[in-house]
Amino acid sequence: MDIIVSKYGGSSITCKEDIERIKKITEDDVRRKVIVVSAPGKRHEKGYENDTKVTDMLIELARTKDATLANKIIDRYKSLWPENCTSLTDDLCKRMNGDIHDAAYMDALKAFGEEACAKVVAGALGACYIDPKDIFMTTNDFGNARILPESEERTKERIRQCVGNGVVVIPGFYGYTRDGFIATLSRGGSDVTGAYIAASLDALVYENFTDREGILAADPALVDNPAKIEKITYKEIRDLAYSGFTIFHEDAMNHVERKFIPVHVRKTASYPHKGTYIVHDRVSDVKRPLIGVAYQHGFCSFTIERFGLNGANLFTAIFDTFQQESVAVEFVNNAIDDITIIVREENCKKTHAISNVVKKLYAAIGTDSSIKFQEHLGCLVVAGKGLKGRRGISADIQSTLADTDVNICFISQGSQERSIIYGIASEDGKKAVNAVYDKYLR
Ligand code: ASP
Repeated sequence: MDIIVSKYGGSSITCKEDIERIKKITEDDVRRKVIVVSAPGKRHEKGYENDTKVTDMLIELARTKDATLANKIIDRYKSLWPENCTSLTDDLCKRMNGDIHDAAYMDALKAFGEEACAKVVAGALGACYIDPKDIFMTTNDFGNARILPESEERTKERIRQCVGNGVVVIPGFYGYTRDGFIATLSRGGSDVTGAYIAASLDALVYENFTDREGILAADPALVDNPAKIEKITYKEIRDLAYSGFTIFHEDAMNHVERKFIPVHVRKTASYPHKGTYIVHDRVSDVKRPLIGVAYQHGFCSFTIERFGLNGANLFTAIFDTFQQESVAVEFVNNAIDDITIIVREENCKKTHAISNVVKKLYAAIGTDSSIKFQEHLGCLVVAGKGLKGRRGISADIQSTLADTDVNICFISQGSQERSIIYGIASEDGKKAVNAVYDKYLR
């Protein structure tokens, strides 16, 4: 049976009209059998400029146990579909007064957002509610749990039992530990739940309904009116995700990719307009070798120079140094006598992290070396499967950057030739993205 799994983000579930829209979309295609929901998000209407997502309200509730806040949360559900909310107040009270503590308590309250939402949506659609207890076993890393592999068979079985009779609605974002505690995935984890279900069922497509038209070829905060991408591969989106293309949860990508499930990222309010398809492969237009350009600042680099560094077998000592100081290495660039290690500035915040790394590097590779630290770097990523084997493209991009007076501090190209990362000064970020966008993507 062909099944479409549709996941609705919190921004698509904020009022009664949203639920009616979900109902219409579901009825529009009989293959839309599985719905996964997040907790209600921020409302968009006038008067709600400082609105709070239900998950954030629940986090606050777990900290304060404030009864007024609990009532406000229930009111959010009543405004979605008042008829289905009768038992929610009792359910929330029980959850608040349950005999669990600390991180497990926090997760039990956080998960209430998705659980209640799925019950309300199931009621409104006349669909069957599936309890994650029946399918998702997770690790017990509360707040950052992972779905355990045995969940796959359970997911298949439980959902296949139910979809014969109609649509099923499943809360995203959480599962149960082997000891029976609720454990939530990382924030935004309903994407992961949806992708996991789509992969388990070998779904025809995984629809990710959001408040955005799809994936854009550049960040609209940097580039005026960037075009929407029609089709992009899993790998291309990973390359761009490196520099801020974060429309879709990273762990979700893993699940759909391992089963080649196409993902359709689309805007709920624009239905039936198509959004962006993320697929295993696509045909690349020879005239358009790039699919997107991304830029992110917040990087810094350590350049270590020593005569004969390459042959001296010192790379392990260098990496060990970064590991000892818990500074994650993002990527590396090297030449004959030098190596540049690029890290995120936010990972160097620990007091003396930078001076400790420098001191330990000198100790490891000798004081006759030179170590230069450079901050305020940005990474410009150009990506597209059309880059592969394309003679002269990287020279061409570099001269485009040179014409815009952008200096390149380092270049990194993976051997797959699918993307190139340029290290540039943060102050050049915006003009670099625009230069590349105008030349290759406009
Ligand atoms: N409601 C959760 C969050 O805000 C999970 C999700 O929306 O996917 O992170």
